[in-house]
Amino acid sequence: MHTGSPLLPVSHGLDPFASPEAFDAELQDFLHQTSDLLCHWLADAARRSPLPTVRRQPEIAPGLGGADSRQLLSDLQLVMEGAYQPSHPGALAHLDPPPLTASIAAELICAGLNNNLLAEELSPGLSDLERQLCRWFASRLGLPDSGGGVLATGGTLSNLMALLVARDRLPEGRGQQGVVLCSADAHVSLLKATRVMGLAADGLQRLPVDDQGCMQSELLEQALQGLEHEGRPCIAVVATAGTTVRGAVDPLAAIAAICRRSNVWLHVDAAIGGVFALASSTAALMDGIGLADSITLNPQKLLGITKASSLLLLREPSLLGNSFATGLPYMESAVGDHHGGEAGLQGTRPAEILKLWLGLRQLGEAGIETLLQSALQRCRTLTHHLDADRLEVLGGSLHLLALRPKRRSSIDVDAWCETTRRMLLQQGFMLSRPHYDQSHCLKAVLGNPHTTELHLQQLAALINASVDR
Ligand SMILES: *Cc1c(COP(=O)(O)O)cnc(C)c1O
Repeated sequence: MHTGSPLLPVSHGLDPFASPEAFDAELQDFLHQTSDLLCHWLADAARRSPLPTVRRQPEIAPGLGGADSRQLLSDLQLVMEGAYQPSHPGALAHLDPPPLTASIAAELICAGLNNNLLAEELSPGLSDLERQLCRWFASRLGLPDSGGGVLATGGTLSNLMALLVARDRLPEGRGQQGVVLCSADAHVSLLKATRVMGLAADGLQRLPVDDQGCMQSELLEQALQGLEHEGRPCIAVVATAGTTVRGAVDPLAAIAAICRRSNVWLHVDAAIGGVFALASSTAALMDGIGLADSITLNPQKLLGITKASSLLLLREPSLLGNSFATGLPYMESAVGDHHGGEAGLQGTRPAEILKLWLGLRQLGEAGIETLLQSALQRCRTLTHHLDADRLEVLGGSLHLLALRPKRRSSIDVDAWCETTRRMLLQQGFMLSRPHYDQSHCLKAVLGNPHTTELHLQQLAALINASVDR
């Protein structure tokens, strides 16, 4: 209760809270200066490295007296210098692209509004915006008119909520013995989800993938029959539309047909690939996604919507209420279907919808399509320049790939990955080094709009030279 204590006034004029009665010129000046810092940080990206070389530790504890705006700006500067730089053209390691400029601005407004998606009375307008934009996504992905959903702070949470909804559909008391089926290449968040749900140690069962990294329909059918034999319910089949290491897309339509026949919930983890359904020229990559019961989609991963931005979309969004509604006795009732806090696991939640909505408005249909197409093109370009005689390239149909020296070469693959990753970083290219199928590999995600064909030629030449021995 010591905030704003009159004994320790903030010097230099910047008030901790803006005046509700008069235009706050100090605040305006402060925001201008923070924007300047940010713009310089962005402008400097290509001259630095994706990862900081040195990182100075800022002062952690609040000082005795409040810091003035100069101090705050220099604190911020210090943190920025030590940050990962997604706007560097060589930042290709993960699914973390540069931020869309409209999303940056929306984030500022979001903080300034400080609304709460928990309840409509704390976020009038924004709650509605979320519901409507989820419906737009649902319809773009080919879900029926009833489709809709909710935003979540990350795909891990979207996946967890989807599996909870699926489990709650089973007859009372059956859920705990249930099993979730997915492919060997599915995301680790599913393991987290099944643990949180308290399922048995074999509650998540992973089926071997084919040589393209995709789930095999025949194995899925066998697994479902096996469960039926054991008398264990299948909570859900999780198909992945864009696996995390190589971007493989499971055969969604075939899997949907199997799930339909067996009356099993189909969740599509399209955290990576779902955005490709938004443009007509790339939608075929997500063929069958509209047959899902639920879908996870992360606009933060390729579109550049600032983190966090994830959606859980459902064929029947009213099921969210069955799993998560508790009644909110402290709130006026909602005019829409639900309060935000009744449609998901999260309570208080920022209006993450704002940066998603404004980012999409900024791109427009044409911008979305260009962004998706150019990511695919960069992936083709890199693949083209890589030496296919010496390298095993593990790609799918999306914008990422993994690679390693062919096994027949005498190169120690794990050691190669480690030294090559370090060498590339010194040359301004940041790739990641996931473990996949018994050894490491190097992974490149081509979602960075600043990466040019020349960069990709340089990158491929460096990699090719490193196996040329
Ligand atoms: C990234 C990812 C997730 C998890 O999303 P977060 O936003 O990191 O929680 C889930 N599934 C897949 C396939 C992913 O690539």
